[in-house]
Amino acid sequence: MQKAHPAVLAVTGPHDTPAVMKAVHAHLPKPHDPYTDLIPPQGIKLTPEHYAYLKISEGCNHRCTFCIIPSMRGDLVSRPIGEVMQEAENLVKAGVKELLVVSQDTSAYGVDIKYRTGFWRGRPVKTKMTELCKSLGELGVWVRLHYVYPYPHVDEVIPLMADGKLLPYLDVPFQHASPRILKLMKRPASAEKVLERIRAWRAICPDITIRSTFIVGFPGETDVEFEELLEFLDEAQLDRVGCFEYSPVEGAAANELPGALPEEVKHERRERFMKVQERISAARLQSKVGKTYQVLIDGPGLGRSSADAPEIDGAVHFKGGKTGEFKNVVIDRADAHDLYGRLQ
Ligand code: SF4
Repeated sequence: MQKAHPAVLAVTGPHDTPAVMKAVHAHLPKPHDPYTDLIPPQGIKLTPEHYAYLKISEGCNHRCTFCIIPSMRGDLVSRPIGEVMQEAENLVKAGVKELLVVSQDTSAYGVDIKYRTGFWRGRPVKTKMTELCKSLGELGVWVRLHYVYPYPHVDEVIPLMADGKLLPYLDVPFQHASPRILKLMKRPASAEKVLERIRAWRAICPDITIRSTFIVGFPGETDVEFEELLEFLDEAQLDRVGCFEYSPVEGAAANELPGALPEEVKHERRERFMKVQERISAARLQSKVGKTYQVLIDGPGLGRSSADAPEIDGAVHFKGGKTGEFKNVVIDRADAHDLYGRLQ
């Protein structure tokens, strides 16, 4: 119907008052009245004024064997794109400078509702990660993607990063590099392909920061498989890496696997893993010395570049600055996690 009559903004089922009201609110938002609205138009958020998390879906269709999220939160339920974009726009109008897109599985956005078309600014937009990214890229603020499961279509957002529409930052949890362990984890099982893709991403967007997380000490992980993981780290040269020792969360399928490892082995593997990554991270940050980076200031003397997500990554240190401002910083020195420089 909408194809035949593009001026029709929404089609609902009969007697579907909530859907009609939703469409009215999406296309004709009620003007904000501070005397009657107790909640600000951007909603209530617990982050500082200049950044906000944008939750696009809840739940997950994967069944990674170490994870109990699907059993607690259920299968993926995507929020309609019109609603997500309206929230993003309200946040930007309220002064937010950085939107952090979060979910349990950002790249699966819309799969549950067959990429249903919604509306934003009066035009049709599909409930799909790439279309969401393009639309968010129009808001003129930093947009950072988290929890991106490594599906092939993730490659489509890299050119948006190269064009400056999205922050050149990708948080993709790879979890391991050994094909056998990945299979036991029920994750995509090809480290070779991952390396190829990382190379391709860097060819399109050389400034991309790749963040990932890994699990060491998974049940049955042999010395050789752990070494494979360390070799992968050396090859992949990831920028930001988190590492967890496998912990048998109650209800996780992986607990039934044979070969649970003693705590001290898990611990020792994590230490070795972090040592290798620290060397890589230090070298990568060292290569930034002498260059100038735009930072978003979190507080006097402290900011974050495109490579630094709040609370989980490193930071950029300097003197002065006003919270919530974008400034350029010339980098003078680096350590394994942070950069130090001067405001320009
Ligand atoms: S680890 Fe992530 S992708 Fe896997 S089941 Fe849990 S939430 Fe889903």
